[in-house]
Amino acid sequence: MDKKDISLILDRLSEKYGGDAAYPGRSSEGLSPEWPFDPFHVLISTILSQRTKDDNTRKASDRLFSVYGTMEEIASAETEKVAELIRPAGFPNQKAGAIIETCKILLRDYGGKVPTQTEELLKLPMVGRKTAACVRAYAMSIPSVCVDTHVHRITNLMGLVDTDTPEKTEEELMRITPKKRWMDINRYFVRHGQVICRPNRPNCGECIVADMCDSRKDDA
Ligand code: SF4
Repeated sequence: MDKKDISLILDRLSEKYGGDAAYPGRSSEGLSPEWPFDPFHVLISTILSQRTKDDNTRKASDRLFSVYGTMEEIASAETEKVAELIRPAGFPNQKAGAIIETCKILLRDYGGKVPTQTEELLKLPMVGRKTAACVRAYAMSIPSVCVDTHVHRITNLMGLVDTDTPEKTEEELMRITPKKRWMDINRYFVRHGQVICRPNRPNCGECIVADMCDSRKDDA
C-alpha cells in the first residue's frame, strides 16, 4: 500500500472521529482532559500507561499527582508510597521505582527538564520508543509516530505494514506516511481501535475503512 492510501485512510478516520479522537495524549495515554500537557506529566503518565488500560492510567496519574505535585517531591518520595498511589496502573513496584529514578535523573542531568531528543529520552527507565515518541508528539509538538498496541495491531491487520514489533511498525509508518500526517496516526488509529476495530471483536460491518483492509470479515 502506498502513501496515498494511508493518507486516504487517515482522511476517512478524521472525518469520522474528528475532535472526538484521542489527542493530545488524552484517552490514549491516560491523561486527564483538564491537565496541561507539559512534558513531565506526559512522560510520567506514559510510563504509567504501559501494560494497562486507559482508565487505570488515569486513576493512577490522578492519585500520584494529587499527592506529589512536583518532580522534586516525587524524587524524594518513598517507593512504597508511590507504589501504593499508582497501584491501579499495575506493576506498582516496577513503575514506582522507574518514576522516582526518572525524576532523580531529570533533576541531576537535565536541570529538571524533560529532554527533547529521542536518544536522551531512551536513557530513562522504562522509556522505549513508543513512550519517547508520545512525549515528543504530545508534549513537545515534534512530529513523531507514536505506536501503541492499537496502532501496531490495526496497521498490520489492514496490511499497511507487515511487522512483528512496534519498533518496526514505527519505522514503516514513518516511511509510508507524509510527515505532516505523522501526528494523526496515533490520534485516529487509537480511537478506531477503541470503538470499531476492538481487539478480538472488530466490527467490520461498521468500519469506514473496510474497503481498504486486508482483514475485513464480511460476516462481522
Ligand atoms: S475492516 Fe475490520 S479488521 Fe479491518 S480495520 Fe475495519 S474493523 Fe478492523
